[in-house]
Amino acid sequence: MDKYLKAIKQNVCSICVDSNERGGCTLTHKETCAVEFYLPSVLEIVHSIETDDVSKYHKLVKEKICINCHEDSNGYCYLHEDANCSLDRYFSLIVETLKKVDKG
Ligand code: SF4
Ligand code: SF4
Repeated sequence: MDKYLKAIKQNVCSICVDSNERGGCTLTHKETCAVEFYLPSVLEIVHSIETDDVSKYHKLVKEKICINCHEDSNGYCYLHEDANCSLDRYFSLIVETLKKVDKG
């Protein structure tokens, strides 16, 4: 998992709106980053199917992750609506980064 996390820090944290100019995360210890928190589940999803269509991975994220996260019974997530979920915000880049690590 370390190699994936390292790649995420290099590629995603570096451009994240919640990072400082050196790519360090500015979230407080009371806040949780969905990218970090759900990384093992996202990796499982990326490894579960082989496709270039990111929307297929995103559909699985909705089904397997969002349903147990902040999403309500109507599929509504206020963090998604406010572009305030890092996993959602950078999803394409996250998938691309994990796939690059797999390719070596
Ligand atoms: S919020 Fe998440 S993605 Fe953004 S800098 Fe912090 S750890 Fe990285
Ligand atoms: S979009 Fe909402 S429900 Fe889905 S992972 Fe992000 S915060 Fe959780």
